[in-house]
Amino acid sequence: MKITISSNGDARIGDLGKSKKLGNLLVAVPDKIQSGSGLHLELELPNFHCNIGGENPTQGQLACLMCPRSRSDFVAEMDRIDQICDLLANYVGQIDQLHIAGLAEPFWKDRIGEVIGRLHIENHPAIKVGTTTNALLLDSAACDRWFSSVQRSEVRFSIDAGTPDTYLKIRRIPEFELAVGNMNRFCRKRDSDRHTAILSNNINLLNLSELHQMVEMAKNNFCHYLSLVPTSPTDPSLLNICLNRDNQQQFMEAAQSTREFAGQIGVEVVFGATWPR
Ligand code: SF4
Repeated sequence: MKITISSNGDARIGDLGKSKKLGNLLVAVPDKIQSGSGLHLELELPNFHCNIGGENPTQGQLACLMCPRSRSDFVAEMDRIDQICDLLANYVGQIDQLHIAGLAEPFWKDRIGEVIGRLHIENHPAIKVGTTTNALLLDSAACDRWFSSVQRSEVRFSIDAGTPDTYLKIRRIPEFELAVGNMNRFCRKRDSDRHTAILSNNINLLNLSELHQMVEMAKNNFCHYLSLVPTSPTDPSLLNICLNRDNQQQFMEAAQSTREFAGQIGVEVVFGATWPR
C-alpha cells in the first residue's frame, strides 16, 4: 500500500493518477498509517530544496533545463517536513519502504539525513530507503553518513548525460566529472547486497545519441543496472526535443541498438513504460 505525503502534509493513497486523498497528516494521522503494516511511504521534499538553481531558481543560477523548477511560474512549496517526520516517527514500525522523493535534491543541506534522523531509521534496519539524487552533494562524508544510518537502500543516480557537453546543456553547470565521481565512490563503498545503485536517466533528443556511453557508465561505475525513461515535457518549449510522434522511430532505433550493445558488455538496461515499442 503506497501512501504519498506532500511537503505540506497532504496525504494520498494509491499510485499517481489513481490516488485518493487521505487528508492532511498534520490535522489527523490517517488510519491507514496508524493501523497499516508493510507501508510503502513516499515523502516529498519541497521544491526549493536543490543545489542546482537553489531556493529561488527564477533568479540567479538556473535550475536544470528540463526541470519544472525552471518555469517562470515557480513558487516555493510549503516545508512542513520536520513536523511530518515527528508525527511519522510514532509509526515507523509499520513502514516497509520509505521513499524520499519530490522535485528536490535530497542531499541538499543534508535534508535527507535530517529526515532519516528524525524518523530514527537506524533503529529499523529492515526499512528500505529509496531516493533519487543528482550526486553532486554525495561526497565521501555524505556516503559515510548514509551507510551508517541506512541499512538497506535503493539510490537512483540521475546524471542525464553521457558527456560533459551534454551535461552542461541539461544541468547548466560544468560538473559532469564531479557527479560521475561521486556516483562511483558511492557504488564502490557500498555493500551491494544491501544497497542498490541505479543509473537512472531521462532521455530526450539532447542525449539520445549517448545511450551507449550511458551503458558504459553504468558498467564502469558498478551500478546494478541502467534505467532509461523519456523526459516528460514540463514546458511547451520542450515539446520538440522530448519524445513525440515525429521522433518516436528514433527512440525505438536507439533502444534496439542500446539493447544489443548492453548485451555485448553485460549491462542490464530497463526502458520505462512510456518508451515507444
Ligand atoms: S532536475 Fe533535479 S537537480 Fe535539476 S533542478 Fe530539478 S530537482 Fe534540481
